[in-house]
Amino acid sequence: MHNLPFDKPGHFYRGNLHTHSTRSDGRLSPEATCAYYRDLGYDFLSITDHFMERYGYPITDTRPFDTPAFITLLGAELHAGQTLSGEIWHILANGLPADFPRNLPDESAPQLARRALDAGAFVTVAHPAWYNLSEEDVIALGQMHAIEVINGISADHNDKIDSMYMLDVMLSRGYRYNALATDDTHFKPDFRDTLRGWTWVKSESLTAGSILGALKRGEYYSSTGPVIHSVEVIPGDVIRVRCSPCESVFVSSKGSWAQQKHGHNLTEAEINIRRLEKPYCRVTVRDFNGGRAWTNPIWF
Ligand SMILES: [Zn+2]
Ligand SMILES: [Zn+2]
Repeated sequence: MHNLPFDKPGHFYRGNLHTHSTRSDGRLSPEATCAYYRDLGYDFLSITDHFMERYGYPITDTRPFDTPAFITLLGAELHAGQTLSGEIWHILANGLPADFPRNLPDESAPQLARRALDAGAFVTVAHPAWYNLSEEDVIALGQMHAIEVINGISADHNDKIDSMYMLDVMLSRGYRYNALATDDTHFKPDFRDTLRGWTWVKSESLTAGSILGALKRGEYYSSTGPVIHSVEVIPGDVIRVRCSPCESVFVSSKGSWAQQKHGHNLTEAEINIRRLEKPYCRVTVRDFNGGRAWTNPIWF
Protein backbone atom coordinates (compact mmCIF):
# COMPACT_ATOMS: atom_id res chain seq x y z
CA MET A 1 0.00 0.00 0.00
CA HIS A 2 1.09 3.56 -0.59
CA ASN A 3 -0.15 7.11 -0.20
CA LEU A 4 -0.20 8.06 -3.90
CA PRO A 5 -3.13 10.37 -4.67
CA PHE A 6 -3.81 9.23 -8.22
CA ASP A 7 -6.18 6.35 -7.57
CA LYS A 8 -7.91 8.03 -4.64
CA PRO A 9 -11.48 9.28 -5.15
CA GLY A 10 -12.11 12.94 -5.88
CA HIS A 11 -10.55 15.66 -8.00
CA PHE A 12 -7.18 17.37 -8.12
CA TYR A 13 -7.25 20.91 -6.76
CA ARG A 14 -4.37 23.35 -7.19
CA GLY A 15 -3.17 25.58 -4.39
CA ASN A 16 -0.42 27.67 -2.85
CA LEU A 17 0.26 27.02 0.83
CA HIS A 18 2.82 29.74 1.65
CA THR A 19 1.75 33.37 1.20
CA HIS A 20 2.22 36.69 3.03
CA SER A 21 -0.11 39.69 3.13
CA THR A 22 -0.10 43.15 4.68
CA ARG A 23 -0.84 41.45 8.01
CA SER A 24 2.94 40.85 8.05
CA ASP A 25 5.52 41.78 5.38
CA GLY A 26 3.53 41.11 2.19
CA ARG A 27 2.56 44.01 -0.10
CA LEU A 28 -1.07 43.10 -0.89
CA SER A 29 -4.03 42.97 1.46
CA PRO A 30 -5.45 39.56 2.34
CA GLU A 31 -8.43 40.28 0.07
CA ALA A 32 -6.26 41.31 -2.89
CA THR A 33 -3.96 38.32 -2.34
CA CYS A 34 -6.92 35.94 -2.46
CA ALA A 35 -8.25 37.69 -5.58
CA TYR A 36 -4.84 37.40 -7.26
CA TYR A 37 -4.68 33.61 -6.85
CA ARG A 38 -8.38 33.14 -7.59
CA ASP A 39 -7.88 35.02 -10.88
CA LEU A 40 -4.91 32.78 -11.74
CA GLY A 41 -7.29 29.83 -11.54
CA TYR A 42 -6.06 28.41 -8.24
CA ASP A 43 -8.61 26.44 -6.23
CA PHE A 44 -7.23 27.12 -2.77
CA LEU A 45 -4.80 29.36 -0.91
CA SER A 46 -3.33 29.60 2.55
CA ILE A 47 -2.17 33.01 3.76
CA THR A 48 0.63 32.31 6.22
CA ASP A 49 1.70 35.62 7.72
CA HIS A 50 4.69 35.74 10.05
CA PHE A 51 3.41 34.73 13.49
CA MET A 52 5.54 37.23 15.40
CA GLU A 53 5.07 39.78 18.13
CA ARG A 54 5.98 42.66 15.80
CA TYR A 55 2.94 41.81 13.64
CA GLY A 56 0.65 40.98 16.57
CA TYR A 57 0.78 37.18 16.01
CA PRO A 58 -1.63 37.21 13.06
CA ILE A 59 -3.75 34.27 11.97
CA THR A 60 -5.10 36.08 8.92
CA ASP A 61 -8.79 35.33 8.53
CA THR A 62 -9.41 34.78 4.83
CA ARG A 63 -12.71 32.93 5.19
CA PRO A 64 -14.77 35.97 4.04
CA PHE A 65 -13.05 35.62 0.64
CA ASP A 66 -13.99 31.97 0.12
CA THR A 67 -16.30 31.24 -2.81
CA PRO A 68 -17.79 27.95 -4.03
CA ALA A 69 -14.81 27.60 -6.41
CA PHE A 70 -12.01 29.02 -4.23
CA ILE A 71 -11.34 28.22 -0.60
CA THR A 72 -8.71 29.17 1.95
CA LEU A 73 -6.94 27.38 4.77
CA LEU A 74 -6.03 29.44 7.81
CA GLY A 75 -2.33 29.28 8.54
CA ALA A 76 0.83 31.04 9.62
CA GLU A 77 4.59 30.91 9.34
CA LEU A 78 5.74 30.21 12.89
CA HIS A 79 8.99 31.47 14.38
CA ALA A 80 10.89 30.61 17.54
CA GLY A 81 14.31 29.75 18.93
CA GLN A 82 17.42 29.50 16.81
CA THR A 83 18.77 27.17 14.17
CA LEU A 84 22.35 25.90 14.43
CA SER A 85 23.46 28.74 12.17
CA GLY A 86 21.94 31.24 14.59
CA GLU A 87 18.79 32.34 12.75
CA ILE A 88 15.22 32.21 14.02
CA TRP A 89 13.30 29.11 12.87
CA HIS A 90 10.73 29.27 10.05
CA ILE A 91 7.97 26.64 10.27
CA LEU A 92 4.98 26.57 7.93
CA ALA A 93 1.61 25.60 9.44
CA ASN A 94 -1.55 25.24 7.31
CA GLY A 95 -4.93 24.56 8.86
CA LEU A 96 -4.38 26.31 12.18
CA PRO A 97 -7.39 27.32 14.28
CA ALA A 98 -8.17 31.06 14.20
CA ASP A 99 -7.43 31.28 17.93
CA PHE A 100 -4.07 29.48 17.86
CA PRO A 101 -2.32 30.87 20.96
CA ARG A 102 0.70 33.11 20.53
CA ASN A 103 4.19 31.88 21.43
CA LEU A 104 4.58 30.89 25.06
CA PRO A 105 7.41 32.48 27.07
CA ASP A 106 10.74 30.88 26.00
CA GLU A 107 8.90 28.43 23.75
CA SER A 108 11.37 26.47 21.59
CA ALA A 109 10.89 25.72 17.89
CA PRO A 110 10.18 22.00 18.56
CA GLN A 111 7.59 22.94 21.20
CA LEU A 112 5.88 25.45 18.91
CA ALA A 113 5.85 23.02 15.96
CA ARG A 114 4.45 20.30 18.23
CA ARG A 115 1.70 22.66 19.35
CA ALA A 116 0.76 23.32 15.70
CA LEU A 117 0.62 19.57 15.00
CA ASP A 118 -1.53 19.04 18.07
CA ALA A 119 -3.86 21.84 16.88
CA GLY A 120 -4.49 19.80 13.71
CA ALA A 121 -2.25 21.65 11.26
CA PHE A 122 -0.25 20.34 8.30
CA VAL A 123 3.25 21.36 9.35
CA THR A 124 6.22 21.82 7.00
CA VAL A 125 9.91 22.55 7.55
CA ALA A 126 10.13 25.79 5.54
CA HIS A 127 12.82 26.50 2.91
CA PRO A 128 15.86 24.62 4.34
CA ALA A 129 18.20 25.79 1.55
CA TRP A 130 17.28 29.47 1.96
CA TYR A 131 18.92 29.67 5.39
CA ASN A 132 21.23 26.66 5.29
CA LEU A 133 19.28 24.50 7.66
CA SER A 134 21.21 21.37 8.62
CA GLU A 135 20.14 17.76 9.05
CA GLU A 136 20.67 18.14 12.80
CA ASP A 137 18.25 21.08 12.81
CA VAL A 138 15.54 19.10 11.01
CA ILE A 139 16.00 16.09 13.29
CA ALA A 140 15.90 18.32 16.39
CA LEU A 141 12.61 19.90 15.27
CA GLY A 142 10.91 16.51 15.45
CA GLN A 143 8.86 14.65 12.85
CA MET A 144 6.74 17.03 10.72
CA HIS A 145 4.59 16.29 7.66
CA ALA A 146 6.73 17.77 4.90
CA ILE A 147 9.85 19.59 3.79
CA GLU A 148 9.39 22.64 1.58
CA VAL A 149 11.40 21.60 -1.48
CA ILE A 150 10.61 24.68 -3.60
CA ASN A 151 10.28 28.14 -2.03
CA GLY A 152 9.52 30.62 -4.80
CA ILE A 153 10.73 33.88 -3.33
CA SER A 154 14.16 32.39 -2.62
CA ALA A 155 14.86 32.36 -6.37
CA ASP A 156 15.17 36.15 -6.46
CA HIS A 157 16.34 36.59 -2.86
CA ASN A 158 19.45 34.39 -2.69
CA ASP A 159 19.06 31.92 -5.60
CA LYS A 160 18.33 29.05 -3.19
CA ILE A 161 14.88 28.01 -4.39
CA ASP A 162 15.48 24.24 -4.25
CA SER A 163 15.67 22.20 -1.02
CA MET A 164 15.11 18.76 -2.53
CA TYR A 165 18.51 17.72 -1.22
CA MET A 166 17.31 17.95 2.38
CA LEU A 167 14.27 15.79 1.63
CA ASP A 168 16.46 13.08 0.07
CA VAL A 169 18.97 13.12 2.91
CA MET A 170 16.20 12.72 5.49
CA LEU A 171 14.53 9.93 3.48
CA SER A 172 17.86 8.12 3.15
CA ARG A 173 18.18 8.24 6.91
CA GLY A 174 14.78 6.60 7.34
CA TYR A 175 12.70 9.66 8.22
CA ARG A 176 9.35 10.04 6.47
CA TYR A 177 8.60 13.43 4.98
CA ASN A 178 6.55 14.54 2.02
CA ALA A 179 7.60 17.26 -0.43
CA LEU A 180 5.95 20.66 -0.72
CA ALA A 181 6.43 23.35 -3.41
CA THR A 182 5.22 26.88 -2.68
CA ASP A 183 5.59 30.49 -3.82
CA ASP A 184 6.14 32.14 -0.40
CA THR A 185 4.59 35.16 -2.07
CA HIS A 186 5.32 38.67 -0.78
CA PHE A 187 4.63 40.66 -4.01
CA LYS A 188 7.83 42.64 -3.43
CA PRO A 189 9.05 44.76 -6.35
CA ASP A 190 11.80 43.03 -8.39
CA PHE A 191 11.00 39.62 -6.91
CA ARG A 192 9.09 37.18 -9.06
CA ASP A 193 7.61 35.04 -6.35
CA THR A 194 4.37 33.85 -7.92
CA LEU A 195 3.79 30.76 -10.06
CA ARG A 196 7.09 29.30 -8.84
CA GLY A 197 5.70 26.17 -7.16
CA TRP A 198 2.33 24.71 -6.23
CA THR A 199 0.55 21.58 -5.07
CA TRP A 200 -2.13 19.45 -6.67
CA VAL A 201 -4.19 17.89 -3.89
CA LYS A 202 -6.59 14.99 -4.53
CA SER A 203 -9.66 15.66 -2.49
CA GLU A 204 -13.27 14.52 -2.47
CA SER A 205 -14.48 18.10 -2.13
CA LEU A 206 -13.18 21.65 -2.21
CA THR A 207 -13.48 22.29 1.51
CA ALA A 208 -10.76 23.28 3.95
CA GLY A 209 -11.32 20.11 5.98
CA SER A 210 -11.06 17.77 3.01
CA ILE A 211 -7.99 19.50 1.54
CA LEU A 212 -6.28 19.53 4.94
CA GLY A 213 -6.97 15.83 5.47
CA ALA A 214 -5.54 14.95 2.06
CA LEU A 215 -2.43 17.03 2.73
CA LYS A 216 -1.82 15.29 6.04
CA ARG A 217 -2.21 11.88 4.39
CA GLY A 218 0.26 12.93 1.64
CA GLU A 219 -2.36 12.61 -1.11
CA TYR A 220 -0.94 15.34 -3.32
CA TYR A 221 2.01 16.11 -5.55
CA SER A 222 4.09 19.24 -6.14
CA SER A 223 4.94 20.98 -9.39
CA THR A 224 6.63 23.93 -11.04
CA GLY A 225 5.00 23.16 -14.40
CA PRO A 226 4.20 19.60 -15.51
CA VAL A 227 1.02 17.73 -14.67
CA ILE A 228 1.23 14.14 -13.46
CA HIS A 229 -1.92 12.26 -14.46
CA SER A 230 -1.12 8.95 -12.82
CA VAL A 231 1.61 6.89 -11.22
CA GLU A 232 0.94 3.18 -10.83
CA VAL A 233 3.05 0.57 -9.13
CA ILE A 234 2.52 -2.51 -11.29
CA PRO A 235 3.23 -6.04 -10.09
CA GLY A 236 6.53 -7.15 -11.58
CA ASP A 237 8.28 -4.09 -10.18
CA VAL A 238 7.32 -1.54 -12.81
CA ILE A 239 6.24 2.05 -12.22
CA ARG A 240 4.03 3.47 -14.95
CA VAL A 241 3.82 7.27 -15.18
CA ARG A 242 1.38 9.31 -17.28
CA CYS A 243 2.02 13.04 -17.48
CA SER A 244 1.79 16.17 -19.61
CA PRO A 245 4.39 16.19 -22.44
CA CYS A 246 7.86 16.03 -20.96
CA GLU A 247 11.46 15.08 -21.74
CA SER A 248 12.48 13.00 -18.76
CA VAL A 249 10.89 10.76 -16.15
CA PHE A 250 12.97 9.64 -13.18
CA VAL A 251 12.45 7.18 -10.37
CA SER A 252 15.00 7.92 -7.66
CA SER A 253 15.74 6.50 -4.24
CA LYS A 254 18.44 6.22 -1.61
CA GLY A 255 21.82 7.69 -2.49
CA SER A 256 22.46 7.89 -6.22
CA TRP A 257 20.04 5.13 -7.22
CA ALA A 258 17.82 6.06 -10.18
CA GLN A 259 16.18 4.70 -13.28
CA GLN A 260 15.06 7.08 -16.00
CA LYS A 261 13.47 7.44 -19.41
CA HIS A 262 14.26 10.29 -21.79
CA GLY A 263 12.49 11.25 -25.00
CA HIS A 264 10.58 13.91 -26.86
CA ASN A 265 7.00 14.70 -25.86
CA LEU A 266 6.82 11.75 -23.49
CA THR A 267 3.37 11.36 -21.99
CA GLU A 268 3.85 7.86 -20.64
CA ALA A 269 6.82 5.96 -19.27
CA GLU A 270 7.31 2.53 -17.72
CA ILE A 271 10.29 2.24 -15.45
CA ASN A 272 11.62 -1.00 -14.04
CA ILE A 273 12.40 -0.84 -10.33
CA ARG A 274 13.36 -4.48 -9.82
CA ARG A 275 16.82 -3.50 -8.61
CA LEU A 276 15.53 -0.72 -6.37
CA GLU A 277 16.83 -0.92 -2.84
CA LYS A 278 13.49 -0.48 -1.08
CA PRO A 279 11.73 0.77 1.08
CA TYR A 280 10.96 3.91 -0.92
CA CYS A 281 11.34 5.76 -4.18
CA ARG A 282 9.93 8.91 -5.67
CA VAL A 283 9.03 10.03 -9.21
CA THR A 284 10.19 13.22 -10.95
CA VAL A 285 8.92 14.49 -14.32
CA ARG A 286 10.85 17.21 -16.18
CA ASP A 287 9.63 19.17 -19.21
CA PHE A 288 11.37 21.13 -22.00
CA ASN A 289 11.36 24.36 -19.99
CA GLY A 290 12.97 22.76 -16.96
CA GLY A 291 9.62 22.66 -15.16
CA ARG A 292 9.44 19.72 -12.78
CA ALA A 293 6.80 17.78 -10.88
CA TRP A 294 7.46 15.44 -7.97
CA THR A 295 5.42 12.74 -6.32
CA ASN A 296 5.72 12.32 -2.62
CA PRO A 297 7.92 9.39 -1.60
CA ILE A 298 6.30 6.03 -2.34
CA TRP A 299 6.80 3.75 0.65
CA PHE A 300 6.61 0.01 -0.04
ZN1 LIG B 1 10.32 31.94 5.91
ZN1 LIG C 1 7.30 32.94 4.22
